Amino acid sequence: MNADPNCIFCKIVAGQIPARKVHEDDLVLAFHDIAPWAPVHVLVIPRQHIAMLSDVTPEHTPLLGHMLALAPVLMKQLGVTGGFRTLINTGPDGGQEVGHLHMHVMGGPRPWKKG
Ligand code: 5GP
Ligand code: ZN
Repeated sequence: MNADPNCIFCKIVAGQIPARKVHEDDLVLAFHDIAPWAPVHVLVIPRQHIAMLSDVTPEHTPLLGHMLALAPVLMKQLGVTGGFRTLINTGPDGGQEVGHLHMHVMGGPRPWKKG
């Protein structure tokens, strides 16, 4: 699995940096965001280093489908019943701060801190 030694999320995948994991499988990892916008805010990331959504190729289609399909499963597991928001920021104009593809999944009662 390709990893970038300078990437913070690759370090989480490798267990070099701690994270509050909520799900782990062959393709992805999901963990609580360190600075949540909402009562429940998790990040779903591929195990392999893909810098951003604009770097994906057709071979990544099953991975992307898996990430999206996981969102409702995780929200249910975490007790979110009133709906949730999914978000992928891409590149500087998209507001992406961490250069490893990740999908935000946010839920829980409003008001939220952001979003
Ligand atoms: P972006 O702006 O790139 O879409 O979102 C990056 C997200 O990663 C932010 O919501 C930020 O709080 C979160 N984040 C950054 N560093 C860490 C970390 O070391 N651990 C965890 N759990 N979340 C992080
Ligand atoms: Zn990475």
